[in-house]
Amino acid sequence: MARKQPKPIHQLTAAQFERMFPNEDACCAYLVGRRWPDGVRCPRCGAENPHKLPNRPWSWQCYQCAPDTSYRFSHIAGTIFENTNKPLRDWYRVVHLMLTSKKGMSALQIKRYMGFGSYETAWSMCHKVRVALMEDIDKLGGIVEVDETFVGGLAKNRHWDKRGGGGTGGIGSGKTPIVGAVSRKGNVVARVIENVRASTLTAFVHEAVSHKVSLLCTDQWVGYKHLDKEYPHVVVDHAKGDYVVGAIHTNTIEGFWSLIKRGCVGTFHKVSKKYLPLYVAEFQFRYNNRENADIFGAAIAGC
Ligand SMILES: [Zn+2]
Repeated sequence: MARKQPKPIHQLTAAQFERMFPNEDACCAYLVGRRWPDGVRCPRCGAENPHKLPNRPWSWQCYQCAPDTSYRFSHIAGTIFENTNKPLRDWYRVVHLMLTSKKGMSALQIKRYMGFGSYETAWSMCHKVRVALMEDIDKLGGIVEVDETFVGGLAKNRHWDKRGGGGTGGIGSGKTPIVGAVSRKGNVVARVIENVRASTLTAFVHEAVSHKVSLLCTDQWVGYKHLDKEYPHVVVDHAKGDYVVGAIHTNTIEGFWSLIKRGCVGTFHKVSKKYLPLYVAEFQFRYNNRENADIFGAAIAGC
């Protein structure tokens, strides 16, 4: 078989980044254009045409919501960039690094690359960006695959085995379950869950998957059994050696899990379990914007 053509990568290259953001002013202008494509509005009351402060760059005053005392705001008011001592250009570089790295980038790598003095700085920036990348996805339609996986645990048995597989993963291993649904050629929705009981999985499917779905593929886990009543549910029986039967497979969601497990989440330690939803959101955002020519702009818009 002929070698696959490399897929077009809709990502800013380093050179493009330099051209787009040669200095801090260019970064500020970009943010203003993203936040307020139809002209600056007061972030507090939404009033149009606030008064531009003549002697302070990127600052405005709103007389609408505060006629007496007046309300002043800057381009970063109400964004994740507010109250930080890092220039926007540093923030943009961090966002760019996070988006271009398919498996995610650890805070330690970011710290080294950016030359930050402290790990804390890098860590807190990454986390703020992850919060900004959290998105609501419309219910999935078409052919949808649903599956769960387990993540975390000690480094020495850091396998991502399915439920109860020989003590190295699954239920009772102390690992954290994540459930996901993916529409073939479409979006993924993934979420950290407490357990893989039928009630939990069904609640997730209700939220993430449209009832008008044409096919819902899962594996043979008993937790998915109840879906038969509500959805055109088909099962891939891995135990019987079934992996792909025509359209009936869960390879797409398994591909998403493998992205996560090869990434920095694969090494996540118990201590950061509470932040796991943010890592999952980061992977979800990258996946859902994989063909978005302006993924960087989409990320900045959420900041
Ligand atoms: Zn206002």
